[in-house]
Amino acid sequence: MSLRAFLSRRVVTPEGVRPAALLVEGGRIREVVPPDRVPAHAAEAQDFGDLAILPGLVDSHVHINEPGRTEWEGFETATKAAAAGGYTLLVDMPLNCLPATTNLSGLEVKRKAAWARCWVDWMTWGGVVEDNQRDIGPLADAGIPGFKCFLVHPGIDGFTKVTEHQLCSALPHIARTGLPLLVHAELPAPIAAATESLADADWSLYQTYLLSRPEEAELSAIRLLLSLCREYKFRLHIVHLSASKALAELSAARSEGLPVTVETCPHYLHLFAEAIPKGATLFKCAPPIRGRENCEALWQGLRDGTIDLVATDHSPCPLNMKRLAEGNFRNAWGGIASLSVALPVMNTEACGRGFGLTDIARWMAEAPANLAGCQMRKGRIAVGYDADFVVFDPESEFVVSENRLHYRHRVSPYVGEKLRGEVKATYLRGRLVFKDGEFPDEPIGQEYRG
Ligand SMILES: [Zn+2]
Repeated sequence: MSLRAFLSRRVVTPEGVRPAALLVEGGRIREVVPPDRVPAHAAEAQDFGDLAILPGLVDSHVHINEPGRTEWEGFETATKAAAAGGYTLLVDMPLNCLPATTNLSGLEVKRKAAWARCWVDWMTWGGVVEDNQRDIGPLADAGIPGFKCFLVHPGIDGFTKVTEHQLCSALPHIARTGLPLLVHAELPAPIAAATESLADADWSLYQTYLLSRPEEAELSAIRLLLSLCREYKFRLHIVHLSASKALAELSAARSEGLPVTVETCPHYLHLFAEAIPKGATLFKCAPPIRGRENCEALWQGLRDGTIDLVATDHSPCPLNMKRLAEGNFRNAWGGIASLSVALPVMNTEACGRGFGLTDIARWMAEAPANLAGCQMRKGRIAVGYDADFVVFDPESEFVVSENRLHYRHRVSPYVGEKLRGEVKATYLRGRLVFKDGEFPDEPIGQEYRG
């Protein structure tokens, strides 16, 4: 094994940004040293100058859709989009694939589907549905990092939501595993009532869709989950928080010592309802993108630490399901695909608010790795960690075009937008997997097993 050195004047470590050299051997970071301390016997020294080196990003919320719905997305296309976006580990959601990942046989089918097709490393969450309480322990033993459930219909067949009663029968099993339960926190009743009252409204207006998924749906779900967390003592993770009104109660729950973590997504931090054009169904996702003030309040949640992490909720579909010609928010598929541009989106927003690359690395690498239980090898630039890193130009600006997206269906609400920060290269376990729009290696991504 030969020792290689990667240098930059801006290496992003948990302790801050500093000039350093990463000494890499056997796919791991052996040492992080000052740039003038690269050993003479290093086989190669690559100096990236002023470009930043960030830890490879970890996305704990991705819908890969394979097996079963590979025409929506798949391991090959999702992981290429990830590598192009600076991600080196994806954690797949259990619901869009067929069969869903709700028991051991579903997990095995997914492992076979992913074999030799991935450009970055991957893991998968296990699903909790109405009737699989007995599969929870075996899934945990098989190496999954945690579970996901829905309190509202997930928008797709083959994966059921859970009622409060069904959730309560699953929770003792989940608590025993010690693994986190990720919850889509919206309750159906407020959504049903609001949608009913909007039956005759104009569904080509984004405002109609927004009114149909009120904050109350998120708030009431989060209140229920916090009370169950108190009772059953399981690790609770709220995925894609959109309603900033819930932040105060989440913060109080943490002060109380409840094991709760919170995520939001780049689209809630960058887009806002007032600017969404009529009929622009590319912006539809659930929970919905809310108003400008709400967006600022979510940034405040990141600032004060109530929100731990930023994940993409990358959720693509075939183009016809977005019903672009019709422009009807009621019928269009809800989901935003953003793996290739999430880092530039976050960089664009963060720098104007006084945040730096260390914050971005914490939100998009370290904290998601903690959630997925791979924090001993992933999510940081530190000794002993996998040599997963991104070469990033934080100052360069570009206009998002389809050829930068790399996932299967290259549509996005970000196309045409000018963003700040370009991914120049991505390294997975010391190997170059993406550089300047190309994928020079082969699919060397593996399932991460702790
Ligand atoms: Zn999702």
